[in-house]
Amino acid sequence: MRLTSLHILLTYTCNFECDHCFVWGSPQQSGAFTLPQLEDVFQQAADLGTIEVIYFEGGEAFLYHPLLIRGVACAHALGFKAGIVSNGYWATSVEDARLWLEPLAGVGLDEIDVSSDVYHGGEQQEARSQYAMQIADELGIYQRAVFTLNTPYTTRSTDPRMKGEPVTGGDIMFRGRAAVALTPELPGQPWELFDSCPHENLAQPSRVHLDPYGYLHLCQGLVMGNLFERPLKEIIGDYHAQTHPLVAELLAGGPAELARRNKVKTLPRYVDACHLCYSTREALRDKYPAVLVPDQMYGIA
Ligand code: SF4
Repeated sequence: MRLTSLHILLTYTCNFECDHCFVWGSPQQSGAFTLPQLEDVFQQAADLGTIEVIYFEGGEAFLYHPLLIRGVACAHALGFKAGIVSNGYWATSVEDARLWLEPLAGVGLDEIDVSSDVYHGGEQQEARSQYAMQIADELGIYQRAVFTLNTPYTTRSTDPRMKGEPVTGGDIMFRGRAAVALTPELPGQPWELFDSCPHENLAQPSRVHLDPYGYLHLCQGLVMGNLFERPLKEIIGDYHAQTHPLVAELLAGGPAELARRNKVKTLPRYVDACHLCYSTREALRDKYPAVLVPDQMYGIA
């Protein structure tokens, strides 16, 4: 396993509470890194020797603006490329966008992604993302993307096993709050068809998320260890997909196999693989308390 990018969930708190959010971000959520914790994590990341990129995400990372500035500065000083994902709530005018972004450009921010879709902040969002992008451009910060999520729509299945039946299309992955808030009424597919994980490289992950409780996530709410209990080098060195209690099953046959082997009672249909995976994992939290954590990832504020 060669880890090249570390995504820091600086906080679970967010000023928005979007239906599609994987991590149940909301104003009621709790948990944020401290500066000493961040500095220790980045030093461990540097010692690992393979990580090239550190991304700051949330929740909403700009809610902790001073900490974000110091975090980016620390990552930059250690030689990492630094990026941020934000909903852009702070870019209420061109001048304000400059006020918030200039200190980050000054300490070495390389990239920023700002959301622009109906899920983030309503109609004003498009203007905010444009202000943010305009100033990022002016300051020489690369805009990797403006996240624009299509709302789910109904399409016809191209899977021969479904014979053109209605299924859900769009960009949303139905895990976290999306699995609960957005799936009712959407067309699904028989649960047995979800026989692989379509989005994460669970066998050889090159990217993981680290939350403010120290949990290192292979996928949101599916962890490989706790960095506040064991060093990063040790967790990464000891990771073997085939001995991880849930990853081995996911690799053997996707979320369907996870549900089957653990005898989880399923619904007849699920909207996508993540919907089945998240629902199954939620049912298994008592059985696997060390790897299906923390509560925040399962909607418990
Ligand atoms: S199938 Fe499961 S492990 Fe794979 S991306 Fe979806 S929620 Fe994550």
